[in-house]
Amino acid sequence: MKLRADIVDMLRNGAHQQDIMRTLHVGANLVVSHREALRLPAPKRGGRPLRPIKEEFHARTEPVDGGHLRWTGYYANGVPKLGRQGGSISAYRIAFGLAHTREPVGHVIPGCGHPKCVEPTHLEDQTMRLQLRTQLASIFGGTP
Ligand SMILES: [Zn+2]
Repeated sequence: MKLRADIVDMLRNGAHQQDIMRTLHVGANLVVSHREALRLPAPKRGGRPLRPIKEEFHARTEPVDGGHLRWTGYYANGVPKLGRQGGSISAYRIAFGLAHTREPVGHVIPGCGHPKCVEPTHLEDQTMRLQLRTQLASIFGGTP
């Protein structure tokens, strides 16, 4: 059988089957047949202990010029994702959690201008964006 490069890529990056199906609009059977053709192990249910999230995160990043961090894991609908415990978490939210002691509010997106940057200190949630707007408003006038 002929393998699809996009499915192969996501499988090799440890993407969860549900995410592959949703992102590439393919059926479960096609994902399973690719996994078998690549001789990749079937997804595990329970059992082996999880690596700490920080290790999982850093194993899938690489530094980029300018102090940014690139996600080398997979993306679902344009969002960098980490498969974990049968589901997936946004890498933005994980990164935010590594740099802050509180839970993020609303969407977490990079505020540094580098597309898809996952450097923990470059990520902003809604609370931070509102604070920034308020500060700018108090300096330059206008309503936040
Ligand atoms: Zn950045």
